Amino acid sequence: MYKKSFNLKPNPLPTMPTYHILTFGCQMNVNDSIWLGQALEAHNFSQAPLAEADVICINTCSVREKPEQKVINTIYRIKQLTLANPKTLVGVLGCVAQQLGEKLFHYTNQVRLVAGPDALAMLPKTIEQLLENPSQRLSLLDFTSTYLEREPGKATKIGPTAYVNIMQGCDNFCTYCIVPYTRGRQKSRPKDAILKECREKIALGARELTLLGQNVNAYGQDKAGDGTRFAQLLHAIADLPGLERIRYTSPHPKDMGVEDVAAFAKIPKLCPCLHLPLQSGSTRILKRMGRGYTREEYSKLVDDLKTTLPAISLTTDIIVGFPGEDDQDLLDTLTMMEYCAYHASFSFCYSDRPGCRAVNFLDKIDRAVQHSRLEEVQHTQDILTTKWLKARVGQTTTILLEEKSPRQPEGSVSWQGRDPYGTIVHLNLPANEDYRGKMLEVTITDFGKHCLHAQQKSSLW
Ligand code: SF4
Repeated sequence: MYKKSFNLKPNPLPTMPTYHILTFGCQMNVNDSIWLGQALEAHNFSQAPLAEADVICINTCSVREKPEQKVINTIYRIKQLTLANPKTLVGVLGCVAQQLGEKLFHYTNQVRLVAGPDALAMLPKTIEQLLENPSQRLSLLDFTSTYLEREPGKATKIGPTAYVNIMQGCDNFCTYCIVPYTRGRQKSRPKDAILKECREKIALGARELTLLGQNVNAYGQDKAGDGTRFAQLLHAIADLPGLERIRYTSPHPKDMGVEDVAAFAKIPKLCPCLHLPLQSGSTRILKRMGRGYTREEYSKLVDDLKTTLPAISLTTDIIVGFPGEDDQDLLDTLTMMEYCAYHASFSFCYSDRPGCRAVNFLDKIDRAVQHSRLEEVQHTQDILTTKWLKARVGQTTTILLEEKSPRQPEGSVSWQGRDPYGTIVHLNLPANEDYRGKMLEVTITDFGKHCLHAQQKSSLW
């Protein structure tokens, strides 16, 4: 821990300090930022626009390209925006903070807090301490061996969908991935703490919970685990009254056991969709990625899922242009996409992450070739998505309404929600009512590029 202090007499805290949080990256980061905001509010902070906040937190992600440059640009942008208030406290949090550490202090004097993902639970008190000591800087970069529970945030009514962390870190060390180095080794959160947070979120208005972790099927299989297996956790959460739907992300194909597959048939609240990262359809490339499964093993898992729940639909992640990938490997990925009939996918070109093993692979793929392969993957996905959406027309499904649609038709009000597959569905409803959190049955009438349109079929509940 880096600690530097010149002030002997701390300043009193402003009566109502203000904060602003900028979030990059995945759902775990989004969920961490939501908690941090609520925790700061429990400490009497209030939210303010970026240029006016006393404290600005940048919650960073290093999974996508050029994360370091993005964070540095953001630090300089904040410096420009806060010229009238040079004492603004800037905290850099998350994966890029873990990676770059105290180097971040050198960009501007405003950066006085650098905290890795494992330090999140300590932030509300640390931020108060830094506001009281304006010449102090702190870096919190140690990894913990257990999942640190976070203090409760300010209890405000929440939306109908919410996230719940069930673990932190990852033990897999895929050769392209920075996560085990930035989020540390896997630490499962005790089942009782997870159930408590689920109950609280349901009491505050959530009807759908998404369980988050880097490798959820390995839940409980680390030293910090309390012996509960992932499928047991799912069953326990499904028993909570008031909850309508459960989702989770991300599973790892190599750790998805028989019980996890069976849960799709046994737990009606478990949504019939699964984000199952493929990364590549080529066994040779999967081996170089260190993924721990072959093309055949992945297809067998998909067969088992579809036998267990014929209505299940899959989404995935794909990396193209991994070092050494050739045309046949790409073809293997494209045929696997068709075999699994993914209804959506996130695909991107491989790029080096400093410190990962794949950086040392010498057979890197030319950028132009990577881009043309990415286009092929995305074109294939567009065809699969359209086919899937088109087949939904005429079906009846259930929607959990979230908010008004961004585009409003003339003369009526359109609301949007998600069906059990996570697809956005728009439908017209009578005006002057707040439908947030309501559910209803609808008939799908049409489809757009990534969404569905529907008509009300049942009354709301
Ligand atoms: S499973 Fe692999 S890709 Fe996923 S977080 Fe762990 S190391 Fe990264």
